[in-house]
Amino acid sequence: MSLRIHNTLSGQLEEFTPLHDNQVGMYTCGPTVYDFAHIGNYRTFVFQDILRRWLKYRGYSLRHVMNLTDVDDNTIRNSKAAGVSLREYTAKYVEAFQVDRQLLSLEDPEIVVRATDSIDDMVKLIQTLIEKGYAYASEGSIYFRVAAFKNYGQLTKIDLSGIRDGARIDSDKYDKNNARDFALWKAPKEGEPFWETALGPGRPGWHIECSVMSMKYLGETFDIHSGGVDLIFPHHENEIAQSEAATGKPFVRYWLHAEHLIVNGEKMSKSLGNFYTLRDLLAKGYKPSAIRYLLAAVPYRRHLNFTFEGLHQAQQSIERLRNFRLRLTQESFSAGENKALQDRARAACQAFEDAMDDNLNTAEALGAVFAMVRDVNTAMDHGEFRAGDRAAFLDMLQRWDRIFAVLEDTDYGKLRQLGFIKEAREFVKPDTETGAPEGAEARTTGNGHRSGLQVESLTDEEIERWIAERNEMRRKSNFARADEIRQNLQKAGVILEDSKLGTRWKRK
Ligand SMILES: [Zn+2]
Repeated sequence: MSLRIHNTLSGQLEEFTPLHDNQVGMYTCGPTVYDFAHIGNYRTFVFQDILRRWLKYRGYSLRHVMNLTDVDDNTIRNSKAAGVSLREYTAKYVEAFQVDRQLLSLEDPEIVVRATDSIDDMVKLIQTLIEKGYAYASEGSIYFRVAAFKNYGQLTKIDLSGIRDGARIDSDKYDKNNARDFALWKAPKEGEPFWETALGPGRPGWHIECSVMSMKYLGETFDIHSGGVDLIFPHHENEIAQSEAATGKPFVRYWLHAEHLIVNGEKMSKSLGNFYTLRDLLAKGYKPSAIRYLLAAVPYRRHLNFTFEGLHQAQQSIERLRNFRLRLTQESFSAGENKALQDRARAACQAFEDAMDDNLNTAEALGAVFAMVRDVNTAMDHGEFRAGDRAAFLDMLQRWDRIFAVLEDTDYGKLRQLGFIKEAREFVKPDTETGAPEGAEARTTGNGHRSGLQVESLTDEEIERWIAERNEMRRKSNFARADEIRQNLQKAGVILEDSKLGTRWKRK
């Protein structure tokens, strides 16, 4: 089966074929860097990461462009309130966004561009629109004349009869009922940043930024453009109008939009107290891998209902997969192969690939892997699994993880490297007489502040040292002391699991 995706433009599932051979040009609207991105934003970014990974899995070579909106109504308002320059204000949130992306294992797009680095190109596109009669000036600003572009409304399927020719709107965000001529270029206002250009002083509107940055790197017609459903109108509708009016060519071949994330069945909002950034969840002790899993688990065109129960389940699901892989690699099995299990591995792989080809149905792709895990665990319990069967299932897991990216336990390393965890200074100081750890408490200093989460923890080396110490005590039959070490480690968030294969540990 080949990849089929839902195109917002046609409202239908379509077979995906790139414009040029196996090269895919893809543009995704990046964040407006005026605050920390919230988990609703990350739902869309995780979907786009899954899309990226699946296109590559299917052998396409990808040129993915993502913008950072670092000049718009929001960034200007907030930088002004903070009393710093636009660049200085947005730098902090650009940095935070990049950190969050690493935590969530989001692959880097091939090209990331800041809007303020493309002002000259925006001026040129606006000049073209003026020359072609699609734009006009009024009081120092320049507006797109919606009535001049006959195909306006093709993405949103809106009725244009309510739009009065010449009625204008200055804000970048408005609803369909207020559709009217929108600003391409905004006249400078007191105390706001502006650029001196051939159009006169001013700054770009939000919509022109994405038209310019996408076509600059991907050409006038390209394959995929994606964002959250809230961007369909007016942002993407206006991008189509600006781009197609200027070039006379189709702008984008496939439009993909991710549905909203809701929290406990309600719209996420600050006023309802159910608004979470990624950092809010980390401060509550949740792992980045579990958050990624949860955000990836629901197919992108369905509402994702975020709950803490769901996050716990995500963590357990990841554990099941990691334990399954451990069993595959570490348990001993008799030699040979089991034909039925070889067939089972192939069937699981087929089911996984079919699900992903079906408009990225991640829920079914997860279902395929967990049905396989259940069957193979049973086969192992019944002694039907053979050593020669390992490779096929490891291969299937590895294929699955090229998309979901949660099998390796990288949470601790990343949190530590990115400054979210510091060493536990107070932890397990050996008592000089008995060598007993004392005060074995991992102190959580994270106060939930969105930018400064820090949790104290033991390093891997320290944990290994304590496990070696405990093993030594057990060998000497000093079980009281061995138990004490286990309990202290547990208080520090480290769980030990003894088996015939030795002692494994993991962080809570
Ligand atoms: Zn955009």
